[in-house]
Amino acid sequence: MPFGLIKYGFNKEYPARVDLPPACDLKDSYDVVIVGGGGHGCAAAYYLATEHGITDVAVLDKGYLGGGNTARNTAIIRANYLTPDGVNFYAESVGLYKELSNALDYNIMYSERGHLTLAHTDSAVRTMRWRAEVNKHLGVESELIFADEIARLCPTLDLSDDVRFPVLAALYHPPGSIARHDAVAWGYAAGAARHGVEFHQKTEVTGIVKEAGRVVAVETERGTVKCGQVIQAVAGSSSLVARMAGFKLPIRTIPLQACVSQPLKPFLDPIIVSGSLHAYVSQSARGELVMGGSTDPYPLYGTRSSLDFKEGLMAHMLELFPFLGEVKVLRQWAGMADMTPDFSPVMGETPVENYWLDAGWGTWGFKATPVCGKRMAETVATGRVPDILQPFRLSRFEEFDQVGEKGAASVGH
Ligand SMILES: Cc1cc2nc3c(=O)[nH]c(=O)nc-3n(C[C@H](O)[C@H](O)[C@H](O)COP(=O)(O)OP(=O)(O)OC[C@H]3O[C@@H](n4cnc5c(N)ncnc54)[C@H](O)[C@@H]3O)c2cc1C
Repeated sequence: MPFGLIKYGFNKEYPARVDLPPACDLKDSYDVVIVGGGGHGCAAAYYLATEHGITDVAVLDKGYLGGGNTARNTAIIRANYLTPDGVNFYAESVGLYKELSNALDYNIMYSERGHLTLAHTDSAVRTMRWRAEVNKHLGVESELIFADEIARLCPTLDLSDDVRFPVLAALYHPPGSIARHDAVAWGYAAGAARHGVEFHQKTEVTGIVKEAGRVVAVETERGTVKCGQVIQAVAGSSSLVARMAGFKLPIRTIPLQACVSQPLKPFLDPIIVSGSLHAYVSQSARGELVMGGSTDPYPLYGTRSSLDFKEGLMAHMLELFPFLGEVKVLRQWAGMADMTPDFSPVMGETPVENYWLDAGWGTWGFKATPVCGKRMAETVATGRVPDILQPFRLSRFEEFDQVGEKGAASVGH
């Protein structure tokens, strides 16, 4: 129970800090409507208000704020991607994350841990070396390290030679971090609300109204709302909402599962990822091991948890940390990952005028929350897609100009 509530009870003078004002009616029209109140939608609203003075904004979510993939992700933040376009983009996000608690006056529990991507085969070592070189060239800290250094950073990892997949090397990325995912969405929402942005939860968008190829309104289960511009930020439902606007996306939606263990005394400082074993793990501030693997084997709009996933993941966890045999799994859940062919997002212009896209977030979008919010806000405010987003344009798929990040994005988040 909050200290203030104990002291003041329900006295009207109770000086509680309220993140969002009480729910209100929808207005007839807004300058900007943001469909989706996950981290990305909340961040875009915040930067529209704080950096561009655009405050006649409504964020509409069919559920509750930050209750989609933002609530379900394993909160890994890093910039050690493979392509220069990807590295520059995620590096800007990491830079914003580092200052975010101060900027929002909201503790997002940003915790810099270092990130180790293990290489178990010669070809994986080559890819890690390649990533390290691209990263260093662009000013992102990354290096290839070997057994002694890996053992120093993570003494509990099994580095024996006589195992199925011995660890040959690792890509070490010191800025790799974790943060409190709910706090990121709520911190942005609270900051935007202080400037007058409205947040409407339990408000599903059911249709997009166009006139002469331009968006003019959105239909919701609470009525139709006119708008000047729309940002679509509905990770996991991107194809469904884009279809309402009349265009198709090159996306397959596939469930992605994760789980946590019972709390343990702190023993794991860095984030450990193994692409070959399809497993990754970090230890939260509460002591829980936060674990995940790759997506489910089939596309589905569903968030059920499966024994199959847990069984495979625990087998791999025990290959990395054999002493965890008696530790219990506490919770398991799933989200919906919008996977693109090149493992990069789709952002910017769409075939509908003034209808802007923030999609294709697969398994990797939490780390991009600040840069997406900032740059989508800039796009709406200026009517021009900034250079840093251009590589991720929707038209790249018909121009054969993909941003291939599979080597850095699958399982690695
Ligand atoms: C298990 C798991 C682990 C992950 N781990 C990581 C990780 O470690 N690092 C990382 O960077 N990324 C990770 N991700 C990916 C990351 O969670 C997402 O890419 C990111 O959260 C996307 O944020 P968002 O704000 O775009 O979407 P969301 O948080 O999903 O928000 C979209 C919102 O849109 C709303 N919505 C949908 N349809 C409508 C509609 N018709 N009308 C109104 N509202 C609608 C939903 O209710 C939802 O709240 C993981 C994902 C999962 C599932």
